[in-house]
Amino acid sequence: RAKDRGRSTYHFYSSQMNAHGQAQLELQSSLRRALERGEISLVYQPKLDLRKRSVTGVEALMRWQHPTLGPVSPAQFIPLAEETGLIESLGRWALQTACRDAVMWRDAGMPVQVSVNLSPRQLNLPHLATEVSQILADSGLEPGLLELEITESGVMQNPARAASLLQEVRALGVSLAIDDFGTGYSSLSYLQRFPLSTLKIDRSFIKDLPGDADAASLTSGIVGLAQRLRMKVVAEGVETVEQLGFLRAQGCDLIQGYYLSKPIPAEEMSGFLARDLRNLVGPTVAA
Ligand code: C2E
Ligand code: MG
Ligand code: MG
Ligand code: MG
Repeated sequence: RAKDRGRSTYHFYSSQMNAHGQAQLELQSSLRRALERGEISLVYQPKLDLRKRSVTGVEALMRWQHPTLGPVSPAQFIPLAEETGLIESLGRWALQTACRDAVMWRDAGMPVQVSVNLSPRQLNLPHLATEVSQILADSGLEPGLLELEITESGVMQNPARAASLLQEVRALGVSLAIDDFGTGYSSLSYLQRFPLSTLKIDRSFIKDLPGDADAASLTSGIVGLAQRLRMKVVAEGVETVEQLGFLRAQGCDLIQGYYLSKPIPAEEMSGFLARDLRNLVGPTVAA
């Protein structure tokens, strides 16, 4: 027996790996049925326009309520969906649902731009622009009320292909945002190559504001860069009024984060949008 040959250690690790592999396989097969079982939903996190002093946009974020495990984090199931190809159907569902919800808010007299995250694999779909345009037509949403968030790793896997796909999407009138800006490893030349409307500064820079001098320099540099490239700039993960004050002074356009609100279900959005948020921003500065 293996144990007699002194290989019990090997057996221990191998059974650990099997247990992990088994759990991943089970998660994968339950993810395959999650959509039809109604376990997938979207929540929305509002973004505050610091000049208009109101919410002008929301980001759609996917949630999975597993029947026995409870909530599974997108950090866990999005990569799994990406590996297995399930992201194509999940991503299409997210686009359809977000567009329908945006129409509902618009028809209630509260038009907000809805942002939907696109995974790298979706940037390989040859008919991405056709799909987006069909979803817009089916829902009745005007293209200007839709934004797609992409990441540097998503566009740099096949930059030439991504550039032409994104040109087609932009030509529909849909906005494009670069997400998690500042965390990637490629040269900044992609900012020129892709038709981006918005730059989202990653939370890792925001969390040390305003006390950390390096984080402050990097953030104000990124805001200036975005302005000179005529892009709108959004700060992610803003949790304190001090962070907001610093970003406002730098000329940042929008903030998103727990300071304003956690992501909330669609049903709660109308109530949130009806609130007067002007005092959250602070006093208006005389021009
Ligand atoms: P992301 O697109 O960068 O989304 C922002 C994440 O930061 C969200 O995490 C949000 O809940 C979190 N967040 C927002 N404000 C704060 C704050 O003030 N403090 C802290 N600590 N966190 C904050 P979430 O919802 O867990 O999503 C994680 C990531 O999963 C997203 O990062 C995105 O990359 C991915 N994801 C979520 N939904 C989708 C989707 O529908 N499609 C795709 N492809 N990816 C998605
Ligand atoms: Mg995002
Ligand atoms: Mg982000
Ligand atoms: Mg981020």
